[in-house]
Amino acid sequence: MKRNQFSLFLLFLVFIIGCKTANEEKFESLNTPFLESAFEKFKEPAITHRRFRHADLQPLIQKHQNSFQITELGKSVEGRSITSLDWGKGSTKVMLWSQMHGNESTATMALFDLFNFLEASGDEYDSLRNLLKTSLSLKFIPMINPDGAEVFQRRNALDIDLNRDAISQISPEAVILKNARDSFEPEFGFNLHDQQVYYNVVNTAKQATISVLAPAYNYETEINEVRGRAMKTIVGMNRLLQELIPGQVGKYDDAFEPRAFGDNIQKWGTSTILIESGGYVGDAEKQYIRKLNFLIILNALHQIATQSYEQHSIDEYFAIPDNDLQLVDLIIKEMQVEVEGKKFPVDLAIRRRENNADSTFYVTGNVEDLGDMQVYFGFEEIDATGLSFKEGKVFEQEFENLAAISSEEAIELLRQGYLGVKIKNGKPGDLHQLPILILQSKKDFNFGWKTGSSPNFFLAEGDLLKYAIVNGYLIDLENPKEQVLKQRVF
Ligand SMILES: [Zn+2]
Repeated sequence: MKRNQFSLFLLFLVFIIGCKTANEEKFESLNTPFLESAFEKFKEPAITHRRFRHADLQPLIQKHQNSFQITELGKSVEGRSITSLDWGKGSTKVMLWSQMHGNESTATMALFDLFNFLEASGDEYDSLRNLLKTSLSLKFIPMINPDGAEVFQRRNALDIDLNRDAISQISPEAVILKNARDSFEPEFGFNLHDQQVYYNVVNTAKQATISVLAPAYNYETEINEVRGRAMKTIVGMNRLLQELIPGQVGKYDDAFEPRAFGDNIQKWGTSTILIESGGYVGDAEKQYIRKLNFLIILNALHQIATQSYEQHSIDEYFAIPDNDLQLVDLIIKEMQVEVEGKKFPVDLAIRRRENNADSTFYVTGNVEDLGDMQVYFGFEEIDATGLSFKEGKVFEQEFENLAAISSEEAIELLRQGYLGVKIKNGKPGDLHQLPILILQSKKDFNFGWKTGSSPNFFLAEGDLLKYAIVNGYLIDLENPKEQVLKQRVF
């Protein structure tokens, strides 16, 4: 190599290295603590639980009228407004819609946190905001199904599942969403839902706190440019999530559903990302999962603004494990039950389903399945080898009201074989946290160990009562632990 050739080579090397550094800077992802402090700073304080309603959101929407373009897109079946909030003046259009299922509100909370973040200025987040503002045009439609949200139910006031109404558009809410997509023609779309808390990451006991999907646009589940972009963006979001909830991200089945919005919006040319918020132990009101939504949406918007999703591979998307629906609240292993005078050891899988009660909930325990339960995972599991099923009784004496019974007294009654106590004053449906069944209108309670039964019974070793199962809650009678019980009066 001659000397001037060598200099040229050196120059070339410098050029290559320079390009690489510039690229890396451009593709650098946001660091997670930086985003986490943004959440803490901009979290909307007016939303504190997941059963908020349309009326609660209206002042929060109006609050942003100076920074966002606010448009009423139409009205729900019962006449509630559905509003879009637009922000940014960039060329890449992104649409985000939440709560088409009325009882799936986690992402709605995160969107309001995001509005506060985007609206602010004069802090360490300015460069991120400016990047988003100049690269993206965002259209947010929070709470597409306000009538469902009003009573915290999945379906709308016509009892239609909006996510099966993308084509027929029988519901005004579906028409609104479809029109918004068609007139805006976003490059990217975020379809924001909640899933049951019983989703796990396949073959593991880990709860799928977040599930993701780049929905299919045809039965063959092919991958085109549009769907591929969604998959790559999900890879970046998953990397962030793995830092905070390792092993707790699941990927949804991509079977094509011809009536669903996600699948069709993908088909209509918008790279569509489904986020499903599941459960997280100790986070009944999903405030931590709200934060995760805030983080991954911001992460995704940054990826889209910088096109850094291009660095990710579709293979990495497929490497995200599938989700499964194998979690239950309690597994009782090898409990002895007696039938026809013979004893059989059975495993019981119990779930405690939520029921609405104004702004909160109570649970109803249910025996989901029994026999060999090795394919299920329990949030709580107990080995009942050597213990037998035993019925409980109702205490003969009536208490004045709920306040007249303490937790300690309730536990003492359990130890004596009573699972239910009666009260004079109070009404069915009143909420309480006592570890015993409270009866007002009813004289007795349901119980059993077969599928569909109410799990109210004792686990006994001979005559000694070791555990009480009360409405599906496990209570260790020797060492009762502190736990939050969501009970109601019968
Ligand atoms: Zn949903």
